[in-house]
Amino acid sequence: MWWSDDEWEALTAAEQCGMCADAHVPTNEHSALIATTSTSHVRLARNQHHAGYSLVILREHVVDMSELPPEQLARFWADVQRAARVIDGVSRPKKIDYLVMGHRMPHLHCHLLPQHAIDDPLRNVNIADGPTYLSPEAFDAAIAALQRMWKSLEPPLGR
Ligand SMILES: [Zn+2]
Repeated sequence: MWWSDDEWEALTAAEQCGMCADAHVPTNEHSALIATTSTSHVRLARNQHHAGYSLVILREHVVDMSELPPEQLARFWADVQRAARVIDGVSRPKKIDYLVMGHRMPHLHCHLLPQHAIDDPLRNVNIADGPTYLSPEAFDAAIAALQRMWKSLEPPLGR
């Protein structure tokens, strides 16, 4: 059964939104900040079972992609593309899967879930695989490497 109307109203309210509360902070329980653009926050997930697993989170509280004007939509996807190039440069996956869901966290964000040589391509995607947590030193090193790569890449839309 889907959420009740009251549950969904509470979940979709900006005032109670967990992503609005902590998508911009340097570190939180789930992730750490790689970069911020005019449109998005880019974060590395703490669960690194799929090395390079990151999220691009719209800065504004918008529940569904269908609500975005074309320019903002283009900037959001440009940020996703730049994040993918960064992950590709640092983690060298075979493929990156892009997941936009939001039925539990209805604030527009895209999961970038890298698939590596050890992953079975016939298995269904599960963002909760693992979890695998790096040592604090290794996680900080991953953030630093991604930040260096982020800065080295030109913004796709010239921002
Ligand atoms: Zn929000």
